Amino acid sequence: MAAIPEKMKAAVTHGPSDVRIEEIPVPAHEPDKVLVKVAACGICGTDVHIMDGHMRPAWPPYYPFIQGHEWCGEVAAVGSGAGTALEIGDRVIMEPTIGCGHCATCIRGAYHLCERAGEPDGGGSGGYRLLGHTADGAFSEYGSAPPNNLHKMPESMSWEDAVIVNQVVVALHALDRGKVEPADRVAILGPGLLGLSVLQLAKAMGASRTYITGRGYRLDIARELGADVVIDITKEDPVKVVMKDTGGGGVDLAVECAGPPEAMEQAIGMVRRGGRAVLEGINGGKSVPFISDRIVLDEIAVSGGRGSPNCYPRAIEMMTQGVIDTPRMLTHSYPIDEFAEAMRMFKAREDGVMRVMIKP
Ligand SMILES: [Zn+2]
Ligand SMILES: [Zn+2]
Repeated sequence: MAAIPEKMKAAVTHGPSDVRIEEIPVPAHEPDKVLVKVAACGICGTDVHIMDGHMRPAWPPYYPFIQGHEWCGEVAAVGSGAGTALEIGDRVIMEPTIGCGHCATCIRGAYHLCERAGEPDGGGSGGYRLLGHTADGAFSEYGSAPPNNLHKMPESMSWEDAVIVNQVVVALHALDRGKVEPADRVAILGPGLLGLSVLQLAKAMGASRTYITGRGYRLDIARELGADVVIDITKEDPVKVVMKDTGGGGVDLAVECAGPPEAMEQAIGMVRRGGRAVLEGINGGKSVPFISDRIVLDEIAVSGGRGSPNCYPRAIEMMTQGVIDTPRMLTHSYPIDEFAEAMRMFKAREDGVMRVMIKP
């Protein structure tokens, strides 16, 4: 691998909606970290909110800031005290959540719910970090992360697959939360990247019949990816369609990946007695109307899901089995100099755009 330069190109956020392409120093080579030459970084819906300043003061906590939390690349240097088997040249996928490792929740393995997460600076150095949100990410030529957050990529895996893994892990956690079982009938509310990832994983995990609700061109993609019943919410009532198709019983599992309160209400409304609903959407603090008797008397299990704890190794394995159609999911790629155009394209949601990535 080529020598590490002193400077690198980066898309630097200086304030709300103020991103500039600049030459800045390569991240300091810290003994407990691994320096990675970034090959690709996905643009995520959260990036738009962070970039526009909607998530301040938590995300980002400071300016100038480097966003980008869906990155992968080649190991360029390993810190002397990193204590890892990773070697220079290894291809890795970065997992953005760094738990403090010391609180009771982290010790239970739920590091995505780290108790220090709400504290300024994550409880001090070595505390909680969410790279690309509370600490620098990698819309840049180099990125730095602790070794435990870097997952080695199999030979057969492409950079495009690696970018998509970042959504597949969240989908896998959602299905873990929903305790998916072979032969389950699974409904997915919302045909975004997460919903489409849930669809493909659920089928790979043995779902016998799948339903997806939403609107627009993404429903066509869902159909191409094998959804059995596609429901356009601008034309049909999703609960009625699901109930009719299941003979009035409802699905075993509904995974809500949309956000609006109606979608959450529908998810709870379309599961069978004793069924399960997982809510993944964020709706900005709105109340969700639901009839509690339905949950009590029909014993519906309602779970929330966020992030992707302990999911990367399994998701990488599943990706190598070909269960995810990456070309259908990752539709656009831009060099870092065209960052503004990449963001515009991602926001416009035109031309069948799904995931957009930057190749620094
Ligand atoms: Zn993301
Ligand atoms: Zn913790």
